[in-house]
Amino acid sequence: MGDVEHIPKELKLIDESGVRLDGRRYDELRPIRIEAGVLKKADGSAYIEWGNNKVLAAVYGPREAHPRHLQDPAKALVQCRYNMAPFSVTERKRPGPDRRSVEISKVISEAFASVVFVEQFPRTSVDIFIEVLQADAGTRCAGLTAASVALADAGIPMRDLVTSCASGKIGGVVALDLNKDEDNFGEADCPMAIVPRTGEIVLLQMDGHLTVDEFERAMDLSIVATKGIYELQRDALRRRYSAMAEQAMEAPPPPPIPSELPPPPDMPEDELPEVDDL
Ligand code: UDP
Repeated sequence: MGDVEHIPKELKLIDESGVRLDGRRYDELRPIRIEAGVLKKADGSAYIEWGNNKVLAAVYGPREAHPRHLQDPAKALVQCRYNMAPFSVTERKRPGPDRRSVEISKVISEAFASVVFVEQFPRTSVDIFIEVLQADAGTRCAGLTAASVALADAGIPMRDLVTSCASGKIGGVVALDLNKDEDNFGEADCPMAIVPRTGEIVLLQMDGHLTVDEFERAMDLSIVATKGIYELQRDALRRRYSAMAEQAMEAPPPPPIPSELPPPPDMPEDELPEVDDL
């Protein structure tokens, strides 16, 4: 709790004029930056900065699923591992999986399993790794948004990208994209993920309490915000592919293909194999 002790108990998370502690209004996102293709060894990768969150995503596959007994003869498995680095938070986080990271890995795997064309790759696994380098609330949304770009960067066939965002309630006001202090001292947080092209919700969680009306307003805020985040994802992929196209143009041209093949070397007749020997 070291990083929250500086907040006096009576401090308002949002003031009378609707301004939050970090200067945002109730419907404003934190700044987001996405880069695709940041890792050479993975099949696909992406890096996202979302406010003070810093998250890397890497994707491998589709590749043969291991251990073999996990293989599904009808479709690919989509397996995500979400991990928070020990140095990602103020109080050192104990390394390794815990209940929270297992739960987040599961809901993210399920979100992607509903958009990847898994039937095209039986017996394989699509492996997604999300590494949180710095955490400031909203890391599952940031990780999912980056992993979606990494899947596209790996060329994994999908119905669409998945875009994620959270909204919650602070000081009695429904607000978009809570930061760490708001998450700690607010009343509720509701992360969601959407398939922007169809409007399908593929992840929905709730921490705290919202009335039905507040929940609907929170969802509306998140849905509007995901439209902008989707554009940032697509822009990261466009930049990635234009950089790759430029590299391909700069590469030296391949040697010309000879118009006529050279004649075969002469072979003395007595060395030609007999038909019976063949
Ligand atoms: N957090 C932490 N230690 C932990 C887990 C979480 O300090 O072991 C912080 C971290 O900043 C995280 C925030 O609490 O981003 C909110 O966590 P939550 O479980 O709500 O997930 P998130 O909002 O990151 O998806």
